[in-house]
Amino acid sequence: MTLREDKKRIGELRDLLNQYSYEYYTLDKPTVPDAEYDKLMQELLGLEEKYPELVTADSPTQRVGGKPLESFEKVEHRVPMLSLGNAFNEGDLRDFDRRVRQDVGEQVTYVCELKIDGLAISLRYEDGLFAQGATRGDGVIGEDITTNLRTIKTVPLRLKEGNVDIEVRGEAYMPKRSFETLNKEREANGEELFANPRNAAAGSLRQLDPKIAAKRNLDIFLYGIGSSEGFLIDSHSDGLDFLERLGFKINPERRRCANIDEVIQFIEGWTEKRPNLPYEIDGIVIKVDSFEQQEQLGTTAKSPRWAIAYKFPAEEVMTKLIDIELSVGRTGVVTPTAILEPVRVAGTTVKRASLHNEDLIREKDIKIGDFVIIKKAGDIIPEVVSVVEEKRTGDEQDFSMPTGCPECGSELVRLEDEVALRCINPKCHAQIREGLIHFVSRNAMNIEGLGEKVITQLFAANLIEDVADIYKLDRDELLKLERMGEKSVDNLLNAIETSKSNSLEKLLFGIGVRHVGAKAAKTLAQQFETMDALQKATMEDLITINEIGEKMAESIVTYFGKDEVSQLIDELKFYDVNMIYKGPKIANVEEIDSVFAGKTIVLTGKLEQMGRNDAKKELEALGAKVTGSVSKKTDIVIAGEDAGSKLAKALELGLEVWDEARMLQELKR
Ligand code: NAD
Repeated sequence: MTLREDKKRIGELRDLLNQYSYEYYTLDKPTVPDAEYDKLMQELLGLEEKYPELVTADSPTQRVGGKPLESFEKVEHRVPMLSLGNAFNEGDLRDFDRRVRQDVGEQVTYVCELKIDGLAISLRYEDGLFAQGATRGDGVIGEDITTNLRTIKTVPLRLKEGNVDIEVRGEAYMPKRSFETLNKEREANGEELFANPRNAAAGSLRQLDPKIAAKRNLDIFLYGIGSSEGFLIDSHSDGLDFLERLGFKINPERRRCANIDEVIQFIEGWTEKRPNLPYEIDGIVIKVDSFEQQEQLGTTAKSPRWAIAYKFPAEEVMTKLIDIELSVGRTGVVTPTAILEPVRVAGTTVKRASLHNEDLIREKDIKIGDFVIIKKAGDIIPEVVSVVEEKRTGDEQDFSMPTGCPECGSELVRLEDEVALRCINPKCHAQIREGLIHFVSRNAMNIEGLGEKVITQLFAANLIEDVADIYKLDRDELLKLERMGEKSVDNLLNAIETSKSNSLEKLLFGIGVRHVGAKAAKTLAQQFETMDALQKATMEDLITINEIGEKMAESIVTYFGKDEVSQLIDELKFYDVNMIYKGPKIANVEEIDSVFAGKTIVLTGKLEQMGRNDAKKELEALGAKVTGSVSKKTDIVIAGEDAGSKLAKALELGLEVWDEARMLQELKR
């Protein structure tokens, strides 16, 4: 990967992680499994380690949790509520142990605790009385949810030893049984289901009516002291015993371990025993016991260096494959999907899993009626790992793909170099419908209220046939449809109207040019700026762009060469759909008249007039590349007050060194 590609990827990862965090922490509605989030976070951490100069304070790797909801009073934590670093395997744990011993010496005792999958809570007591309870929020500011926390029976309102001022921390959670009952009730009432007990607990505590929290059967385990005055406790384990004496509920499954091998044994034990617990745990937390050593190790902006969370691997479960269904996608690809006996995997109920294509079905020797192993390892879409051959009875049926399209009946073809079977009938209804669903989806035109169900309904009622028809929808016609009240129709029409002003890349991705994904659409929009310019682009224009290969370029030229495409674009223009790119422009280094254009610059030392971040932004806006380490490739080193090793290296390499004043002078030109 080139630096440019890495930088792009960093940007993409930050956007995705921010979006997922928002859905998870602020809305309590995750859209991807935790393992997927963790995988992306590890990728970003890896890239930031490679380019430390690209780490920004607002990167998801540096931040805790999510923004507090506006509807609650804010609580500023006296001591920040941090997150935890993650370990995914034995190697990570041994690395952690090595780092700890390097800093504090060989004599280290660890405490292992179950990592309860709920949400972090702070409880503050004044004079032994429960005074305030808060969520973690972004680590510094949380939400005041005192009234809701009072409804949890295990939150003591008065401590057993009076006159105590203390702030304790723990995890509020919903037991598995309560979660199942709650979701059953919600299903019966036609309400949206909670994805997992963690989100159910957070969703219950982060709403304004305490009666709801009271009904939800929540519980809490305390796992630490946030801040306290006047106690003489010198280890975490003593702290937990002390909290227990005060009347707090502390998880009994904790163990002091003399070394990392004992920690690993504890983890192995719980990997097996975990399903028997009445609540969900997603890992084991390992903490250095001695407070003195904890202090020596310190914290980063995001997590303490004296603790780590070991995360269990994504679960694999067995279930029965009842049937294989076929669906036709917007590009005509026919995909077989396994219909499964519903089963819970990694926090959600799985009923279907894509089997991708016939080759995969053959390779894994999947038959209808087989028992199969399902996992969601890091993937959003559940996957069939393997067949459990021992459970075959002989009644299982072989599966083969049909020769005709399951929707329109026309003959399926296998294109060169492809494993997929395709329906190539452009009038195939399934393809048109799927194309419409894609057009309105979040990364495309993002028309809220126009999901798969409504599109299918509109399509069936002959109200839409192509994407331009969306902009012709008539209020009275919509009102005639089932389940469409005045309010939903008006909201829908407003959302459609709003989508007209989307930036070009969203439209470009939405119209579905073959091989053009969201990322390529952005590149094209940024390069060409208008739909008109892109329509006129030649193969040559296109392939000179870094990320556009020959295959994509060919597909773009062919697409825009079609009469029906020109017609569609004209129609969309007629309805005032925006055709212009609105995002940040690319700096063309050759056109920038500045001494900094195209130069690689290192900033070091303290800049007095302008913060380093601002200087970096200004330099980058003038086409410079600002990096963090000095090498032969560096063009200019700008050294502020107290510059140290980087300046020394620059002088040693004979590089050009400027002071801040000279930089400012050139910036002003
Ligand atoms: P974390 O869950 O990895 O660890 C920190 C938290 O562990 C603490 O804040 C505390 O609440 C909890 N905890 C439970 N038992 C504990 C104990 N005994 N001692 C100390 N702490 C204990 O970190 P996080 O910052 O809360 O959340 C990050 C995780 O959340 C990610 O790794 C991911 O799995 C998940 N997440 C998922 C999505 C998604 O879209 N699915 C989005 C954001 C975050």
